[in-house]
Amino acid sequence: MEKLSNPQKTIEIIQKYEFAFQKKFGQNFLIDSHVLEKIIKAADITKEDFVVEIGPGIGTLTQYLAEAAGEVTAIEIDKALLPILKDTLSGYDNVTVINVDVLKADLAALAEEKNGGRPIKVVANLPYYITTPIIMGLFEKHVPLDSITVMVQKEVAARMQAGPGTKDYGALSLAVQYYAEPYIAANVPPNCFIPRPNVGSAVIRLTKYDAPRVQVDDEAMMFSVIRASFNQRRKTLQNGLNNSPEVPYTKEQIVAAIEKLGTSPSVRGEALTLEQFAALTNNLTRG
Ligand code: SAM
Repeated sequence: MEKLSNPQKTIEIIQKYEFAFQKKFGQNFLIDSHVLEKIIKAADITKEDFVVEIGPGIGTLTQYLAEAAGEVTAIEIDKALLPILKDTLSGYDNVTVINVDVLKADLAALAEEKNGGRPIKVVANLPYYITTPIIMGLFEKHVPLDSITVMVQKEVAARMQAGPGTKDYGALSLAVQYYAEPYIAANVPPNCFIPRPNVGSAVIRLTKYDAPRVQVDDEAMMFSVIRASFNQRRKTLQNGLNNSPEVPYTKEQIVAAIEKLGTSPSVRGEALTLEQFAALTNNLTRG
């Protein structure tokens, strides 16, 4: 079958099935073969790989994944796309489509069933309205992961990759970088999609670490400390932590924990590295 990455073919399929785009599902379908090839290259897919695709749409990226991978499971919420996927993926015997909300899917069980619990690769042109819950869900629910290679909003990719002291650095940068090494593989303009999104996009690869990058006794407390530090960006670290109900320590304990880092309590949260947030949290919880 002629690939869908040809824009004419995409329009033909949409018209044939009288498909109505659902804004609420973040439906922007890729029509650029160069971008599709870049995604496959960034994800480094081989015939050894079991790949989970989130949101196959009409199957454009799925076709490329099916050709490159050993096996693909594609998770799509929109029932209206099922007959289309049946048609566009009919030439591939290594693809399974599951009609479910990815936020409710048990991907750890899927990896166990389909890949014997070995690390899987997740590849997607994500629905942008749920980018963060999807990515953090994959990390936090302990899905065995090799990497996540995804199209996201350009600003979100920049935040995931940002380092200390930059304007994009924040809780999302630290949450992602605790679990994985980010790498922005491509910037993608709106004209590579039908319909065109209102924002620029980027392909980012998150390569999962075998173990989290830092040692922290109380992971949940570290993320509370991080959220509190960035909640009030212009406040000092000490004030941010003091004002947060999520961080149940006295002013004296907070000052002592910060000073133990070798920095001043008037430092701002955005100057701290992940290693420093871990040390600060250990200082607080160990007393
Ligand atoms: N992969 C296709 C492509 O690149 O052309 C479509 C990508 S489109 C940006 C996002 C896809 O995710 C849509 O097909 C949409 O219906 C699907 N989707 C949205 N929310 C979802 C959810 N909660 N669970 C699974 N799929 C979802």
